[in-house]
Amino acid sequence: MNQPEQASVFQWATFDVYLFDVDGTLINCADAVHYFAFCDALTAIAGRPVNLDGVTAHGNTDTGILRDAFVRVGVPESVWRPRLPEICARMAAFVRERRHEFCIHTLPMVRDTLQHLRARGAILGVATGNLESIGTHKLAAAGILDLFHLFAWSDGLEQRVDVFARAVTSARSLAGQDANIAVIGDTPADVRAAHANSLPAIAVATGIYTYEQLQDESPELCLHSFEELTIPV
Ligand SMILES: [Mg+2]
Repeated sequence: MNQPEQASVFQWATFDVYLFDVDGTLINCADAVHYFAFCDALTAIAGRPVNLDGVTAHGNTDTGILRDAFVRVGVPESVWRPRLPEICARMAAFVRERRHEFCIHTLPMVRDTLQHLRARGAILGVATGNLESIGTHKLAAAGILDLFHLFAWSDGLEQRVDVFARAVTSARSLAGQDANIAVIGDTPADVRAAHANSLPAIAVATGIYTYEQLQDESPELCLHSFEELTIPV
């Protein structure tokens, strides 16, 4: 099925609620503020320089990234896990102090798509691996924070599937138990977490994964970017 046919069969604009991933889906960060917040916190706990080499960040959660980095460099869980609140607070402070260094771009047609769905009366949510203290700064810097009705951050959660479940709970309390909900993300992990929550997934290849890699996860709709969506008039 070619792209226009796929988009017309899947009625993307008819859902009650849309849950959006952040990085690679709504925005692209050309800076490394978030990355260096991880390095700073990891280094502080490990007592030696630690970065995210060899750790899968895309599609992970902030706590999951910390966990994977500590495992890779051999810091025992008994050392870092009790200090997670301190680690997250340190990362939040790091980002807050350097938010003027953000170089964040909203991806093509994101704002138009969000505004169209809002005007149609849809509930818009964020479902992301970002910690609240970091994700809010990023969306505010992009100028789109105010377009969302609900937020599911990853605070206290390590698995994406659990972040999406948190978002679904918020969405159903806002829009009703029978609300039709769709997830939009840029990674195979987003598609898998959506399906694990029995939700359809719209995959958009504006992150590091290719259209073909996303197609392999069988999303209900796969896009090269939001520019492929025809916004109804
Ligand atoms: Mg992403």
